[in-house]
Amino acid sequence: MKAMHYLTTYLRPRFTFHFSLLTLLLLSPAWCAALPPDNTPVPGGIAIIRLPDDVAPATLRYRDRKVLVTQQDGEQLAVVGLSLGTKPGRHHLAGKTTQGESLSIAFNVEDKAYEEQHITITDKRKVNPEKRDMERITRETKQIKTALQQWSMQDDVVIDFQKPVEGPTSSPFGLKRFFNEQPRNPHSGLDIAAPEGTPIRAPAPGTVIETGDFFFNGNTVLIDHGQGLVTMYCHMSAIDVEPGTRVATGDVIGKVGMTGRVTGPHLHWGVSLNDARVDPLLFLPAEIPATE
Ligand SMILES: [Zn+2]
Repeated sequence: MKAMHYLTTYLRPRFTFHFSLLTLLLLSPAWCAALPPDNTPVPGGIAIIRLPDDVAPATLRYRDRKVLVTQQDGEQLAVVGLSLGTKPGRHHLAGKTTQGESLSIAFNVEDKAYEEQHITITDKRKVNPEKRDMERITRETKQIKTALQQWSMQDDVVIDFQKPVEGPTSSPFGLKRFFNEQPRNPHSGLDIAAPEGTPIRAPAPGTVIETGDFFFNGNTVLIDHGQGLVTMYCHMSAIDVEPGTRVATGDVIGKVGMTGRVTGPHLHWGVSLNDARVDPLLFLPAEIPATE
């Protein structure tokens, strides 16, 4: 694991605090078990920020969104999702102390270059939708957006995930994508290749908040894990849950398929934190890269 640094400045109390993950690893062996293994703050990644003792966690905001706060070894840590559009440089969490005073916590975001991906989609309507598709797409986009912005208070949010489907990565998170040579949004999830019908399992406890058959995403399930952590499963051949279903880690939520805009059977797995789409791999234990 590479050591990395990020600078945290508390404006109240006024001091500058510098630490490396390596230092923390040496101090707290439990760190690895419950927090993502590689958390360099980059666009599409997460920032893990140690909070001052007197912060009121419920007041913390990043870009006007509430942020996830977790306890670890007697410390309060903010786990902040950084969207792919995040500009490298200095960013701030805003909040209040338990005494009601304003505070600002600075952290640095480093740059990250993502590769390009060129895909040929034979169903041209899925690349250039027809006029009659647009109403449906607009409605579904709103529906998905609402689910991804879900916030539910939960004290113990599980952030060390179990992989929902075993299989090789067919397309990593963050790729700059071109469909039939037309630029589109970057890849907001991780594609795992698996045969049609393979069971998809919940990576952590949560509540199903949305399901549907969407134009681009096909059969889709969204799970709320608490405090703004929401996961999404797309292109499924079957959905085995409904909104309101409580799931435990490992519960089957549906099956791998190729519905929606796809070139073959796979699971598109998305992870959203404070309404930022982030790399799902950050929530899995580090694995030895398999030769595909
Ligand atoms: Zn995908």
